[in-house]
Amino acid sequence: MPSEDRSEGRATEATRRALAAVAERLPMGDRQDFTDADRGLVGRSEERQIKAADGRVVWDLDAYRFLDGPAPDTANPSLWRQSQLVAKDGLYEVVPGIYQARGFDLSNISFVEGDRGVIVIDPLISKETAAAAFALYRQHRGQRPVTAMIYTHSHIDHFGGVKGIISQDDVDAGGVPVIAPEGFMEHAISENVFAGTAMGRRAGYMYGAALAKGPAGQIGAGLGQTTSTGEATLIAPTVDITTTGQELSIDGVRIVFQVTPGTEAPAEMNFFFPDRRALCAAENATHNLHNILTLRGAEVRDTHAWAQYLTETIALWGEELEVVFASHHWPTWDRERVVEFLAAQRDLYLYLHDQTLRMINQGYVGAEIAEQLQLPPALEAAWHTHGYYGSVSHNVKAIYQRYLGWYDGNPARLWPHPPAEAARRYVAAMGGADAAVQLAQQAYDEGDYRWAVELLDHVLFNEEGHAGARALQADALEQLGFGAENGTWRSEFLAGAAELRHGQFGTPTTAASADLLGALTVPQVFDSIAIRVDGPKAWDQQLLLSWVITDTGTTHVTELRNGALNHRVAQAPVAGSTTFTLTRPTLIGLVTGTLDLQAGITDGTVTVDGDPATLQRLVDLLAPVDPDFPIVTP
Ligand SMILES: [Zn+2]
Repeated sequence: MPSEDRSEGRATEATRRALAAVAERLPMGDRQDFTDADRGLVGRSEERQIKAADGRVVWDLDAYRFLDGPAPDTANPSLWRQSQLVAKDGLYEVVPGIYQARGFDLSNISFVEGDRGVIVIDPLISKETAAAAFALYRQHRGQRPVTAMIYTHSHIDHFGGVKGIISQDDVDAGGVPVIAPEGFMEHAISENVFAGTAMGRRAGYMYGAALAKGPAGQIGAGLGQTTSTGEATLIAPTVDITTTGQELSIDGVRIVFQVTPGTEAPAEMNFFFPDRRALCAAENATHNLHNILTLRGAEVRDTHAWAQYLTETIALWGEELEVVFASHHWPTWDRERVVEFLAAQRDLYLYLHDQTLRMINQGYVGAEIAEQLQLPPALEAAWHTHGYYGSVSHNVKAIYQRYLGWYDGNPARLWPHPPAEAARRYVAAMGGADAAVQLAQQAYDEGDYRWAVELLDHVLFNEEGHAGARALQADALEQLGFGAENGTWRSEFLAGAAELRHGQFGTPTTAASADLLGALTVPQVFDSIAIRVDGPKAWDQQLLLSWVITDTGTTHVTELRNGALNHRVAQAPVAGSTTFTLTRPTLIGLVTGTLDLQAGITDGTVTVDGDPATLQRLVDLLAPVDPDFPIVTP
């Protein structure tokens, strides 16, 4: 029975009261972030929509104009404020000679001017948005040639747009070094190899790419507004940064590096421009509590190392620096403020790490620590420690996971029924689906949306078509979204509501571009095949294949036995195997389906020694991935 309160897109009385209480506690009088985010504006782009070659809009600089007014009752006022700051777009001067284009993508692109040209840092996600940001820079700063490209770390929002700025030919000709932390390529690619399909689907929830933008829809991801949808490209680094203290001089610009592996990314680095007293903090110190474990799924990050590296950053340059800028959000100026900002960011991660372990050793489990752990008031009072992207709640569970794993030690929780089986029993225990929905309705009416969604989750996993449960679950998730301070939580909740109301939206954006697939190493190709083998179908099959890869000069052997495809490097093809001789790009083409084996044999790009049908037998054992798998229903 839908009550007055249950209406799509509107806040309930309970949500309005909760958000009013949040607004009371926030230090709204502190406007320093707005001063900093506006400081140094050089100009804004007149072209407000960035399009792909086919005319498709991949980024709209005016998409968030609705944020101009005060927070509505359908959004947490803290997140609304953060989104107002993040949505600002333009070219900004950090200090003379250092500029940033902000608001052109999830991340920032930065420009450091040398004697004759410009060093570019972190060219966004898409070549289209990177090109537009670079055009704005050149409009105001002239046609300077690119003298170096720097990737701060191995996440796609820091390299994907590189071909909007330079070409592979520019790099091959030797004129433009591409500088990145050691291990960049391995991590940039491997993140998408093993769990890439699931991460992509889940990223659709996390960033809300399929949601309408608006006061009751997607309003931002906290770290940036959302991800652009142009072409992701990649040019491999030519210069590895391996040690802290390593120094380069490029185009008259001195750069001193600090490697920070295992912080926000497995390969990441900060660096200092001593002649301008400016620090680039990559993504290690930004204006939010960052993720220890991103909601799309990833390996858990090392909070302890993160804090240690920030301590080192302060020790290295705290006496000299005058400004810190990063590849998200706006800079912080003046030595004292910068050091306090870096120190507070450090304290934030260290406090979460240490206090979580203290409570772990007192016997608390992740869900308990998440509810109990509170930040010190002094940290809570700083805007940049708020959980707009990471959250205290999911970060402390991640720290628990890093040290102790999924099992909380209580044997009653060691072997529970899986969701649908548990749901069947829960619903029966509650007296059937309709009675369970009644209970959920009561919880909803009392504003206990967390309990409502848990009850309704059981109903839907027992009977996904139950209309009353679907409608109420969408409404309850939506109220949780309206209440969330965290941008990704809001998008997660609203994405669940949207799929229950309108059907599955699949994977709206994918990182599987030609450049990224083309960068797979031969072992990564074999790994990506192995994880698609349909185990039970392959139980009784044995296949032995040798691969002579002509351009890498390596020979590999793959062997299928017991449903598992192992691979190894070999001196030569092994006896009894079918041998394929081909290049690495051809191998990638065969695996990704852009090339046909028979056509390759006919035109000579693939030669086969033995029975070519061996490969087809392997292909027949591969299961397709599902980029549209259900999430809020079984
Ligand atoms: Zn980033």
